[in-house]
Amino acid sequence: MRGIALVDLKAAHAEVEQEVREGFERVLACTGFVGGAEVAAFEQEFAAFGEVRHCVGVANGTDALELVLRALGLGPGDEAVLPANTFAATAEAVALTGARPVLVDCDEDYLIDVEAAAAAVGPRTKAVLPVHLYGQLAPVERLGALLEGGSARIVEDAAQCQGGRRLGRQAGVGGVAATSFYPGKNLGAYGDAGAVLTDDAELAEAVRILANHGGRSKYEHVVVGRNSRLDALQAVVLRAKLKRLAGWNEARRAAAARYDALLAGQDLVRTPTVLEGNEHVWHLYVVKVGEPGDGGSRRDAVVEKLNAEGIGAGVHYPFPLHLTPAFAHLGYGPGAFPRAEDAADRILSLPLHPHLTADEQERVVEALLAAVG
Ligand SMILES: *Cc1c(COP(=O)(O)O)cnc(C)c1O
Repeated sequence: MRGIALVDLKAAHAEVEQEVREGFERVLACTGFVGGAEVAAFEQEFAAFGEVRHCVGVANGTDALELVLRALGLGPGDEAVLPANTFAATAEAVALTGARPVLVDCDEDYLIDVEAAAAAVGPRTKAVLPVHLYGQLAPVERLGALLEGGSARIVEDAAQCQGGRRLGRQAGVGGVAATSFYPGKNLGAYGDAGAVLTDDAELAEAVRILANHGGRSKYEHVVVGRNSRLDALQAVVLRAKLKRLAGWNEARRAAAARYDALLAGQDLVRTPTVLEGNEHVWHLYVVKVGEPGDGGSRRDAVVEKLNAEGIGAGVHYPFPLHLTPAFAHLGYGPGAFPRAEDAADRILSLPLHPHLTADEQERVVEALLAAVG
């Protein structure tokens, strides 16, 4: 039997292939490989899609986060608060500025615990980074209310929620968000790419300058910048895929609802919940298995069985950041963030992408229930 992939980039490519080839021809004909008309058009189209005033294309999502933090003035001696259960990039971006990542636990929806985040804010805190994990937005309005009156800015890590909404609003509206177009994201390039989204013209300009060797134009260097530009071939791909993104997100929602229905009425697999007020875009469909304190043995066995049957189950992510060697120096030990640690031991991601069929989902659930039973 054919395997069932966690994400199916081939099916997505088949839909856009013609447009991508034509776009590549346009770029090859004019040899404008970095920046240029395709990039400018994509930035406008993605800003319109996200309902923000400004989109600045950069080289990847990690850079997008780091450049925003740098533009906000983060550096050595400063702190930024973020959840322990995120992809390493969120913490790397903080560390790359020279600031210190301050970790907090997540809530039952795997989103940043906003009360814990507000409590972790101190005199050195310049930013708090809610991560819109798995495709739904963290409760940024609650975080904003808790931070009101202080000087810490909210920087949204929107790498996993392109098109998602909370209380009608997308990431970055009224503030600033960084996103990634790594190929496996809901909107993925054919290589690395990322963007900063904001209504703040000054902040957008500061990021643009930092990402372009510190200047607006060639050989103008007003600050020490670097190179983190979006290239035209990636912009071609992103423009073609952006046209389908709303439909693809709709297909993801339908697939998530199908998993919910197939997994209803049993108690060995905890299905994901949607925070009230959210329009989820299901970057990942993350279930929880096993028992608290089982050290991940049950989950690992389930993933192994699924993989052995050709089902591309994955774990996002198997270690909370404080238990990785890279961030051990922050000084948090085991037990520091119980919800993040429990999640890391018990979660697994089922195959989910816009081209997944109902038949495939039935096979996944059958194999999953057999593996946990
Ligand atoms: C993918 C991702 C990033 C970073 O993106 P890159 O483009 O790979 O640098 C940051 N944060 C989260 C939560 C991500 O999933």
